[in-house]
Amino acid sequence: MLCPVCNGLRPLVSTCYVCGARLLDEGKWTDWTGPYAPYEPVAFTAETYLSSGEEICKHVGYCPICEDGFEVSVREREL
Ligand SMILES: [Zn+2]
Ligand SMILES: [Zn+2]
Repeated sequence: MLCPVCNGLRPLVSTCYVCGARLLDEGKWTDWTGPYAPYEPVAFTAETYLSSGEEICKHVGYCPICEDGFEVSVREREL
């Protein structure tokens, strides 16, 4: 399991689907215990594999405009 974002190979690049602002990397869902967390991290442990078998790493992107966090899926082999 090699996440390019977790391993510092590239930054998390994503935009808010509500307002289009650049999201800030707030780390992995499993590490995220901030005040904006909408779910318990354990709720995502069963979703770390896509139906295709491709591994993904769930990160949190925080939008400073909406002041809310969004789930960002990083594909492990995507570079
Ligand atoms: Zn990651
Ligand atoms: Zn936004």
